[in-house]
Amino acid sequence: MMASEAGAQGSNDAHPAMDGGGLSDDDETQAILHPNGARPAPRLIGVARREQASGDIELGQMGGFEQQLEDIDLTSPAHRRPGSALLPLYSVWPSQNYFCCGGLLLTGGSGEFCAPNICIWAMILFPSGLYFIFVFPQLVQRGAFALPGATLVVFLVATGLLCATCCTDPGILPRRDVIIASNSAAKLEEALGYDPLGRGCQPCGVPDGLYRQGYRYCRTCKIIRPPRASHCGDCDNCVLRYDHHCPFVNNCVGQRNYAFFLGFITCVMFLAMLVMPSIFTYFSALSDDKSMVGLVSVSYSMRVVWYLIIVFGGFVVVAAIGSALLWVYHAFLVVTNRTTKEYRKSITNLTEEPTLCAPRGPQLFDPWALVDPQVVNGSMNSSSIRCGRHL
Ligand SMILES: [Zn+2]
Ligand SMILES: [Zn+2]
Repeated sequence: MMASEAGAQGSNDAHPAMDGGGLSDDDETQAILHPNGARPAPRLIGVARREQASGDIELGQMGGFEQQLEDIDLTSPAHRRPGSALLPLYSVWPSQNYFCCGGLLLTGGSGEFCAPNICIWAMILFPSGLYFIFVFPQLVQRGAFALPGATLVVFLVATGLLCATCCTDPGILPRRDVIIASNSAAKLEEALGYDPLGRGCQPCGVPDGLYRQGYRYCRTCKIIRPPRASHCGDCDNCVLRYDHHCPFVNNCVGQRNYAFFLGFITCVMFLAMLVMPSIFTYFSALSDDKSMVGLVSVSYSMRVVWYLIIVFGGFVVVAAIGSALLWVYHAFLVVTNRTTKEYRKSITNLTEEPTLCAPRGPQLFDPWALVDPQVVNGSMNSSSIRCGRHL
């Protein structure tokens, strides 16, 4: 009895924020009884009975979580249910990312989908298209190769870096269920230097040693994440060295794609600087040509082109100014070793790790690992387990 009381007290300490929000206690009990919405987990039924007998819901929840951990055989080739079909991880990914090209590329997800992303592509491609259709051939014909050549290189690098920022893993920490389903706990522990599942420590908590170093528990992913990592609400994942979620690249900007992002805004700034004066010079020369003025005045199509050039010239000016300001801001962050989130929320960089020059690190999940879809999506049902400390 004493041990039981001590356990109950311990669970209260571990879960002080158990009131309000989420499911009702009855609902939570049901969720524990039926973690996958279909069949009950026999060992967890015992936990629920213990809850009813003791009248201590929190003890039951804590016990249920422990039982879940004990049920997991992390030494098996892949955690799966008997008779279930295995599918590639990218095809059953449980959060908001979109995979394409057979799992080779991934991008973020948001309610706005990719409208801002299309907007940024248009702002790059239309002015650049005008440049390469009208200005580029004329400069080459005049024997000026350096400027159009440099513009072409910067354009190709900028679009390549934009693709890389949009479509590569920003440093996603896989969720608990993904780790379990793909049996990647050992690899992850080796890559990160600690156990993100927190096996052997207090459920939903972080060992004191790690907590003092800035490690935190993510309630959504149910893993321990390192300092500087954060949960992205748009992508619904924890991301290493999280900077921000950028709707214009439709992806998180984090540890593994921050260099691409910074390179992209640098190239866009130079691209605007190269394209803007060239277009300006070219069309100023045309306006001095009386025959061109006459053509614009009589030809409707030429007039439309002329107005489009003025509009896109304005876009280029805005892009140039915006990218220059953004570049200065991120240069400041790099120099001060902070991320956007750390700067905005005045969070200290506990690790003193550089923001730009730190190692990119490996991808922490294998998109092609064969997994049991029910195990991967188990988080949807076990999300009723609430934790109130070390968040
Ligand atoms: Zn998370
Ligand atoms: Zn995101």
